[in-house]
Amino acid sequence: LFISFEGGDGVGKTTQIARLASSLSGEVVVTREPGGTELGAEIRRLLLHGGHVSPRAEALLYAADRAHHIDTTVRPALERGAVVLTDRYLDSSVAYQGAARSLGAAEVRELSLWATQGLVPDLTILLDADPALARLRTADRGRADRLEREPDAFHTALREQFLALAAAEPQRFIVVDAERGIDEVAQEIAQRTAPALER
Ligand code: C5P
Ligand code: MG
Repeated sequence: LFISFEGGDGVGKTTQIARLASSLSGEVVVTREPGGTELGAEIRRLLLHGGHVSPRAEALLYAADRAHHIDTTVRPALERGAVVLTDRYLDSSVAYQGAARSLGAAEVRELSLWATQGLVPDLTILLDADPALARLRTADRGRADRLEREPDAFHTALREQFLALAAAEPQRFIVVDAERGIDEVAQEIAQRTAPALER
C-alpha cells in the first residue's frame, strides 16, 4: 500500500508520518521527496540550497528525484508487500511547480507520470492549514531554505491548488484539518486510514 502525505510547508507532514508509522505492524518504509535516496539527497541540495534554478529545470530535477526514488526504493518495497509512507509525492510537484510557479498543472502531472511509469498513491493524506499558521511553525524550526523567500501569495495559491487536487480525486484524497493539535490530527489519520490498512 502506497500512501503519500501532502500539503504546504509547516503543516506537519513529517510529524504525522512518524506517528502513523509507529502505529503500524509489518514492514513500513518511511521516505520522502525530494531526497529519499542518495542521488535524491544531492538533487535536494541543489534545489533547496544551491543557486537559482530556472522553473523548467526545477520541474525536471524534481522529476529526476522522483523517477530514481520510485525505481530504487518505492517499487521494490511495494513488491515486498511493505506499506510505503512518503513525505510528498506528485501532488507537491503539481502544486508547487505546476500551479504556484505557473508551469501548468496538467503538464507537470504528465511529466511526473512519465517519470514514475504511472505510479499514483493508493491514498493521499492532505494536511490542510492556513499558511500564516504554518509559517509560524517553520519559523520555530529555523529553516533557511527556499521556502522563506516565497511571498505569502505563493503559499496561498499552493493551499488552494492542493485543495482543488483533492476535490478532483475524492476517492484518493483524505483531507485533514491540520490546524489542530498533533494528537488530534494523528487520531483522525489513524481512523481514516484504518480501512485501507485493514486494521
Ligand atoms: O517538505 P520538505 O521540507 O521536504 O520540503 C522542502 C522544500 O521543497 C519545501 O519548502 C518546498 O519549497 C520545496 N518543494 C518544492 N516542490 C516540490 C517539493 C518541495 O518546491 N515538488
Ligand atoms: Mg517536513
